[in-house]
Amino acid sequence: MKMKILVTNDDGIHADGLWLLVKELKHIAPVVVVAPDRERSATGTAVTLHQTLRVQQVPSPEPGVEAYSVSGMPSDCVILALGKLVKGKVKLVASGVNPGKNLGDDALISGTVGAALQGYLHGCSALAISCDRTISPGHLDTAAKLAAMLSRKILSDSLPHHIFLNVNLPDLPIEQIKGIQVTRLAHKCHINTVAEGEDENGKYYRLDRQRITTSNDRRTDAWAVEQGYISITPLFAHLYSRPSSTILRNLSTELMKELQG
Ligand code: MN
Repeated sequence: MKMKILVTNDDGIHADGLWLLVKELKHIAPVVVVAPDRERSATGTAVTLHQTLRVQQVPSPEPGVEAYSVSGMPSDCVILALGKLVKGKVKLVASGVNPGKNLGDDALISGTVGAALQGYLHGCSALAISCDRTISPGHLDTAAKLAAMLSRKILSDSLPHHIFLNVNLPDLPIEQIKGIQVTRLAHKCHINTVAEGEDENGKYYRLDRQRITTSNDRRTDAWAVEQGYISITPLFAHLYSRPSSTILRNLSTELMKELQG
């Protein structure tokens, strides 16, 4: 049986970017779509554990492609798809195309990347694909085409087994894109601010993230996309920090002694 591709996103089952991606990927392998029933951007790796989830099979605009909507988060979609909804083996989870960049630290709050991560944690290869959208609606079709090219490489084993890629495209016509850079995630791409106000329910706060526009580090995804390159960042999912663990190991006897008085 042919290996399948699971397609999801964080913008909801009706998003244009999702169906552009499906349109390209269905030529490569059988595709199943499992996506949130509504917009779930910036939900990161959230998983719904304390509520029931509802699944609905929805009519698919692409003939031959099964599609389900889920009343949960992008990660819920992947867990449900791999555990229940998809018959047969899924080799790749593709998430997107997100209409908006997911660069640097944003990878940690992005639902697009979060869904891909969930696939990766389940042993699938994973691809998160996003396109800058300074002029709407952006060049989502170029992003979908590139996703298909990378997916073909992943499914034919031309890339390392079990790979996790975060791909971002600048919002440029294909002939103006300067090239492809393999990058690392940028740090500190944003300033977080908190606005305050008051309405009939009392005081409220609003979190606001302002992007810092220029990144000088030529190795990063933020720099590449700003300069008009496509950025491909290979990710992995371990948060473990080796330098800190050495320091902590040295402290642990002291901590234990103090704890026991
Ligand atoms: Mn989104």
